[in-house]
Amino acid sequence: MPKGVKCLVEECVYYAHEACVAESIEVRSNGNDIVGTDKGTLCATFSYRDFDDGHIRHQQSAPQ
Ligand code: SF4
Repeated sequence: MPKGVKCLVEECVYYAHEACVAESIEVRSNGNDIVGTDKGTLCATFSYRDFDDGHIRHQQSAPQ
């Protein structure tokens, strides 16, 4: 994985100070046949950080 993946998704458990701290990430198309813009991609490693109780609601394992 490249060093220094900048990410601004504060709702993800892997977010820390405008950076991604996951060991690796997986980026996919969002399901459209053709990916023509950045809106056509998504981070499949995203895992929701529950700010209310500190527990993870949708844990996904990072790709190997
Ligand atoms: S796993 Fe994806 S959404 Fe989560 S901090 Fe890393 S790059 Fe951002």
